[in-house]
Amino acid sequence: MNALLEVREIGKRYGNVVALREVSTVVKAGEVTCVLGDNGAGKSTLIKILAGVHQHDEGEFLVEGAPVRFASPREALDRGIATVYQDLAVVPLMSVWRNFFLGSEPTVGFGPFRALDRRKGRELTKKALADLGIDLRDVEQPVGTLSGGERQCVAIARAIHFGAKVLILDEPTAALGVKQAGVVLKYVAQARDRGLGVVLITHNPHHAYPVADRFLLLKRGTALGSYEKAEIELPELTRQMAGGAELDALEHELRQAE
Ligand code: ADP
Repeated sequence: MNALLEVREIGKRYGNVVALREVSTVVKAGEVTCVLGDNGAGKSTLIKILAGVHQHDEGEFLVEGAPVRFASPREALDRGIATVYQDLAVVPLMSVWRNFFLGSEPTVGFGPFRALDRRKGRELTKKALADLGIDLRDVEQPVGTLSGGERQCVAIARAIHFGAKVLILDEPTAALGVKQAGVVLKYVAQARDRGLGVVLITHNPHHAYPVADRFLLLKRGTALGSYEKAEIELPELTRQMAGGAELDALEHELRQAE
């Protein structure tokens, strides 16, 4: 099956800093590609390229098989690539449903008589959330009153509702407790099951493992490893994340020094 997104030996510099070097991976419909790595690994740089915020300097970026170079996030969005950032671009005092539409609210009438169709907006939001099994009592409540996990869920529902093909999630579980992280991961799995290609950024292999189909491990801008799920078990993934080979070498040195 054709990949929705693919990067081939992609590279990116900020001045003298090499943020990414020769990184390759694919994102397929109905699958989750998980990007793992510590701070400074290059995770954000990679997703910013996919999302049209930055451009790559080297390698190739293909969308549905054709090379692209997005000039803006709008261009990426127009190709169905939706990104949910950790800090979420929400307006905290605005209602859940207004945030859901942000700029594309349904209206009634036309021309100078056009007005927000609040009832429709509320209903559509409720339905989109309910379709994913998200039960919010009141979509009129300010988004700021939702928990971090609920906000992530609303953002995921929003991307699905507006027809995203690719959903990029930037550390959606980073600030969450175990229970909320579980709920968010459940919706990640739902997006996948609806046929979206998902890119999940995390530094937690325990959050990544249950939902991912492939793993890209980044370290200081390079790929430490790239695995399909069948190729790697959780303990090994965790070991690699912890700096596996380096830890082994360190232990070896310590034994020698004894
Ligand atoms: P991560 O998201 O995995 O923490 P980043 O992609 O943010 O990693 O960073 C990768 C490297 O690129 C780091 O060394 C970081 O300092 C550098 N970097 C990121 N953004 C910029 C920028 N706008 N200007 C200069 N250097 C940057």
